Amino acid sequence: MTDTVKDAAPEQIEFRAEIRQLLDIIIHSLYSNRDIFLRELISNASDALNRLKFEMLTNRNVVDPDAELGIWLEVDETANMLTIRDTGIGMTHDEIVQSLGTIAHSGAKEFLKAMEEAGKKGQGVTADVIGQFGVGFYAVFMAADEVTVTSRSYKPEAEAVVWSSTGQGTYTVGPADKSERGTTIEIKLNDTSTEFAKNYKVRQIIKTHSDFVDFPIYLKEEKISSGEDDQPPEKTFEWNQINEQTAIWRQAMRDVDEEKYQSFYRQLTMDFGEPLLRIHTSADVPVQFYALLFVPSKKDYRLFGAKEDYGLKLYTRKVLIQENFKELLPQYLRFVEGVVDAEDIPLNVSREMVQKSPVIEKIKKVLVRRVAGQLEEMAGDRPDDYRTFWREFGSFIKEGLATDPDSKSKFTELLRFQSSQSKDASDLISLKQYADRMKSSQSEIYYIIGDDFKTVARSPHLEYFKKHDIEVLYLTDPLDSFMLIGLTEYNGKPLKNVDDSNLDLPEEAEAKTEAKAEETLSSDEFETLVSRFKEVLGDRVEDVRESKLLTNSPVRLVNPPDAMNANMHRVQRLLGKEYQVPKKILEINRGNVMVQNISARLTANAGDPLINPLIEQLFENELVTEGIHPNPADMIPRIQELMLAAAQMGAAPVKAEPAAAEASVVDPPAEPSEVEAEPNAESKTEE
Ligand code: ADP
Ligand code: MG
Repeated sequence: MTDTVKDAAPEQIEFRAEIRQLLDIIIHSLYSNRDIFLRELISNASDALNRLKFEMLTNRNVVDPDAELGIWLEVDETANMLTIRDTGIGMTHDEIVQSLGTIAHSGAKEFLKAMEEAGKKGQGVTADVIGQFGVGFYAVFMAADEVTVTSRSYKPEAEAVVWSSTGQGTYTVGPADKSERGTTIEIKLNDTSTEFAKNYKVRQIIKTHSDFVDFPIYLKEEKISSGEDDQPPEKTFEWNQINEQTAIWRQAMRDVDEEKYQSFYRQLTMDFGEPLLRIHTSADVPVQFYALLFVPSKKDYRLFGAKEDYGLKLYTRKVLIQENFKELLPQYLRFVEGVVDAEDIPLNVSREMVQKSPVIEKIKKVLVRRVAGQLEEMAGDRPDDYRTFWREFGSFIKEGLATDPDSKSKFTELLRFQSSQSKDASDLISLKQYADRMKSSQSEIYYIIGDDFKTVARSPHLEYFKKHDIEVLYLTDPLDSFMLIGLTEYNGKPLKNVDDSNLDLPEEAEAKTEAKAEETLSSDEFETLVSRFKEVLGDRVEDVRESKLLTNSPVRLVNPPDAMNANMHRVQRLLGKEYQVPKKILEINRGNVMVQNISARLTANAGDPLINPLIEQLFENELVTEGIHPNPADMIPRIQELMLAAAQMGAAPVKAEPAAAEASVVDPPAEPSEVEAEPNAESKTEE
């Protein structure tokens, strides 16, 4: 480690602006979390060793081919120094300028962005957030007054290089004397970081953050050897390996205790909570592999940003082939974290080739099955945990159903929905539960789409179903519409939207509703009313006709049979696409008091000024209920016009029919017969 700088004067270079910004943030806001700088340096050393190991699979022409692959740490309390050395891939002059002078890695960029956003929202930086980011090499400046990096690349022709900086805006770089392959980082600690020059502290950080690093991490520690009885004990030093370094995924489950799993999970994910699910598995056929996977208990920020660093760690025979390897699981299972170690990946192929290997495809099949199986087990054995799972990751399962036909057979049972029988929004059921309590006469599974539990529960579409005690699934998650693209039936029963105009409803139930229609408006009256609706609404509706299903509400909107998938309208609206209100069929309930009163007004005086606004408002109310109104605020002037009419009705007793109350903006004051008797009187109050 006695690297002396050659005669040539080192070059002084300014840090790029974004690095200065990063340094500033790191030094000032992560201060309470200084330990992580060592984690970052060790993980860089480990990366460098992995890259070297990978290179050496095909190339023996490297500097020091027989040097032990490891990491060595040494403190000097008196000098307040910490040194970390590795025998990894090393850096050339150009690489060191590129790697330590710019922000090459995505972690830091993402970090800066998150800091900026947290700043905008006036939030502080929590340890939680920091833990999730690899802030990288620059974290060292939280603890350092000066950092010197001396490196010798594995390439035989490359020359050693030394980089040095105080983290104050510039760094120097120049030639060095270092004959052994690898990188040595010497840190002159600052006055408030003296603890990092103490072995107990360094040991503790290694144990907490880097216990499962694949290479031995040695710490130079004092060895007290008691001499002869009358001699003072002799002080010597020895290099002790601190980290566990076991590939626990290759061990039998019974040999790994809970604590090891925990700390492995923590180091893998930087999540300090407990995982919801652990899958420790291996297989011999069709391919031999070991896997240790986790489902975290919280969604990770990484799953949403532009950053694509999800994916499993792929090893082959304990050599890390690739971090964030995405081909081992379908994309929708990207919330699963973990390690896969495959026996049979040929090592002399490029990483791109590995991705296309049939071995990977086979492992993927097994893993998907295991994940689905274990989640199903969790749903049965640990319903509370499963609820948490569904809340955090349910949308990924739905995404799977929408995007991958293969997912259907494995993940359909995992779906959970609110339904018309839910006690509240958090009371969820599975499709199996639905199917088990279906009526014997029922041949379809019914669902309704809407914005939220409460709005949906009020929908006129549900009246028939409530009345006949037929359960309806409430699909209130924006992703549900996507999901339906792939999920069209369950156990041979088609899934049908309750606004579908040709449902195959249980027969006897339909007969009852039809019977009810008899005792309402006469055919003539109803025809006249329908014509007026058509006249007023024009081509905003596909058709106007009688409803056979409504029992309370005045009208509802149903989907024409040949319409574009109704769900796609919602999807488009959610995506902020140019939005056109879809044309629907307006169905009228002849038995509704509001409808009968409008009809009465029409019969009495076709020019009644309240008729058209009432029709308009009935229509737009339904657009709101359906979640497809382009701008509900536009209704306010008309609502006020109608309210004014209601307010002007004088002392007439206002008796709304209870069941129809929610749909009535200006409910007529009395029984239909009474209203029929004096429609003119009412329209007069208007004038
Ligand atoms: P990241 O590790 O996310 O790439 P860092 O800031 O931690 O970002 O490191 C930046 C780069 O510096 C690394 O990608 C690597 O190329 C180089 N580097 C850092 N430490 C070492 C090391 N010990 N040996 C070789 N290269 C290193
Ligand atoms: Mg790093």
